[in-house]
Amino acid sequence: MAIQKPSNQEEEYFARMEFERRRKEAEARRGEEMEESRRRIAKLGAMLCPRCGGELVPVHYRGVEIDKCSRCDGIWLDCGELERLGEGEGGFLSGMLRIFR
Ligand SMILES: [Zn+2]
Repeated sequence: MAIQKPSNQEEEYFARMEFERRRKEAEARRGEEMEESRRRIAKLGAMLCPRCGGELVPVHYRGVEIDKCSRCDGIWLDCGELERLGEGEGGFLSGMLRIFR
């Protein structure tokens, strides 16, 4: 049995299918690369000052880990840490909490 040459329409169809398949593969690869980059940045970013990029040094105070920048001396708190520092405190921190809550 002789192999029939595919029609132009069939060739176009298969070329389009092949293109779509490769496009989806490339998209999936990009998605994985983006996710990997995001994880790397998040890991590194957690240790760097958001203002100057200096290294953050953890300082423990009242059971809370406060991140202090080794370059600009900025102090950073994670979500909920200001509340924990302000618990039972009636002065400055309570005033800050009333502003930011
Ligand atoms: Zn800094």
